[in-house]
Amino acid sequence: MAASRSPLNRQSIVKAMTELLGPRAVETGDEQLKEASVDRFKKYTSVHGIYDGPIPAAIVYPESAADVAAVLRFAEENLVNIVLGTGRTATEGGLETVLEDSLVVDGSRMNAIVSVDPVDMMATAQCGVRLAELEDTVRARGLTTGHSPQSKPLAQMGGLVATRSIGQFSTLYGGIEDMVVGLEAVFPGGQVTRIKNVPRRAAGPDIRHIVIGNEGALCFITEVTVKLFRYQPENNRYFGFLVDDFADGVDAVRELITAGYRPSVCRVYSPEDARQHFADLYQGRSVVVLVAEGPRRIAEATGEAIEELFAGRPHERVNSDRIQRWLENLNWGQDKIDAEKADMLAHSRLGYTTEVSVDWSRVGVLFHSVMSRIRSEFPRAGDLTMLGAHSSHSYQTGTNLYFVYDYVINSSPREEIEVYHKPLNAIIVSEALRMGGSMVHHHGIGKYRTAWVRQEHGSAYFLLSTLKHAFDPEGVMNAGTIFPLEPGADEPASRP
Ligand SMILES: Cc1cc2nc3c(=O)[nH]c(=O)nc-3n(C[C@H](O)[C@H](O)[C@H](O)COP(=O)(O)OP(=O)(O)OC[C@H]3O[C@@H](n4cnc5c(N)ncnc54)[C@H](O)[C@@H]3O)c2cc1C
Repeated sequence: MAASRSPLNRQSIVKAMTELLGPRAVETGDEQLKEASVDRFKKYTSVHGIYDGPIPAAIVYPESAADVAAVLRFAEENLVNIVLGTGRTATEGGLETVLEDSLVVDGSRMNAIVSVDPVDMMATAQCGVRLAELEDTVRARGLTTGHSPQSKPLAQMGGLVATRSIGQFSTLYGGIEDMVVGLEAVFPGGQVTRIKNVPRRAAGPDIRHIVIGNEGALCFITEVTVKLFRYQPENNRYFGFLVDDFADGVDAVRELITAGYRPSVCRVYSPEDARQHFADLYQGRSVVVLVAEGPRRIAEATGEAIEELFAGRPHERVNSDRIQRWLENLNWGQDKIDAEKADMLAHSRLGYTTEVSVDWSRVGVLFHSVMSRIRSEFPRAGDLTMLGAHSSHSYQTGTNLYFVYDYVINSSPREEIEVYHKPLNAIIVSEALRMGGSMVHHHGIGKYRTAWVRQEHGSAYFLLSTLKHAFDPEGVMNAGTIFPLEPGADEPASRP
């Protein structure tokens, strides 16, 4: 268990926070603190009430950038580790409090939609606004953010930007990094920074990218401005195809994308993964799902290109209403989270995922090598009830592979992570790196892929670690996230 570096004890931290923000902003209830010590990486242990890691001293709820600045100033002066959160849907340990007496700073009370501008096509929201709420608000005005991660009902704007999240319509609208126009963030020591909203600029490196994806390890995002697009669902055209082989489906998508078409949804499911979603119709084959969207003539042209592409390839057509209904029920709200908890308790089983990315030329090799390595090397392969993958976000140069695995747990709940989750994750991550791909496509590094962060970035690692040293010189921001916990892991010394 890693000790705090702060000279303050828990009581003094709570007292200082109560004086700084008022009692209404400070939570010290036992259950709340335990739950705040983990995220969904430890969903199996937490559903069994096991919280073995350090429990935070308090959760605080700032209501303004000034409050956040005061907390970060206090943290830096007193060497208190800060773990930021908003929607709390993180899956990679980013919310875990790995040092004793950490302070969880929860931005969810900063939940105002500041403005919706249908002329300059931007919306500004505070970090604690749920994406679903922002999207509903702009849709009422005939607009959309274009962002639709599966966690849309729960995830909030701060966390979505902090993790470089991506949604189901990414091939058309991009990831969050393509959507953010400007933002406000607070840095350690209390420095409030606003990156202004401009269509584009060449005023040095793009400083938005210091903030986007920082996972709470560099700064606290207080407000975000995102682009808006016209919302025209009446033009949507839904397509589904069964193909014999996963590689055939990926190749069809590659041809479509590299020819210049941008269907909003672009997904290929391996047969094992397809069985979870389309059990009644997949017949042991892979499933390709595409949606053409946008202005009518563009949606029609994209639809025609999809028809032409598949006319030249062996396939069986899936009814488009079925695809539309399936997509409309893909997201996860609290109801599905609760059902998953009940299922884990009742059946000692679990589903998890690891998402990576790779160039087109190596997608098939990566898919097969991960599948065969897990089947042959994973000591508990016999406990796997499902192992498959899908490609769900495609680019001119390649795509992501989202590996999904379900297993029954034939060990104590406490051992689940070491026996199952970590070894499976390690095989997928190391294979992606071996193929020259990225070890993480959109969930963030969190605390469980830090072992590979140097390998991920290679000679560019010094850029990343220099940011940490420059912006968080006392190392109080989310210890163990992005950078491994051991001392010196973020040393910037080694310039290439
Ligand atoms: C069912 C489910 C489906 C998901 N589907 C997707 C998906 O389709 N696409 C996708 O990209 N992700 C997905 N995720 C992962 C997760 O929802 C995203 O990473 C999301 O962006 C997290 O947002 P949040 O508000 O819940 O952040 P949190 O979980 O609260 O925090 C996530 C990380 O960001 C940091 N952070 C939070 N708020 C701030 C802030 N204001 N300033 C700085 N750092 C901050 C935290 O310290 C943590 O490291 C899914 C998760 C679940 C549980």
